[in-house]
Amino acid sequence: MTGADIFHGTGDKLSCQSCGMPLGEFQDASGQAANNFATNADGARNSEFCIFCYKSGAFTRPDLTLDGMIAKSVENMTGELRMPEAKARELAKNVIPKLRRWSVKA
Ligand SMILES: [Zn+2]
Repeated sequence: MTGADIFHGTGDKLSCQSCGMPLGEFQDASGQAANNFATNADGARNSEFCIFCYKSGAFTRPDLTLDGMIAKSVENMTGELRMPEAKARELAKNVIPKLRRWSVKA
């Protein structure tokens, strides 16, 4: 997996427009079908964001800034994915500011 795949998957896969995480369906540890899509206030799937960023129609961390999200993303990539910090930071700074949550000013 190259760095860009972390954000963009292999093709036209959706990615969260807040943190860049790939969105999709998968099997959880017990083999159950699961997905990481966000939910709207009525519980319907919202395929723009992941469930960690957006749940039941609202951002889980509405106070999070762009810098905060970049820091969180670098932490995830260097931790879970064991990416060197310089590379993780470069990737996060290239990708996250372009995501819809951060590129559209309300
Ligand atoms: Zn997200």
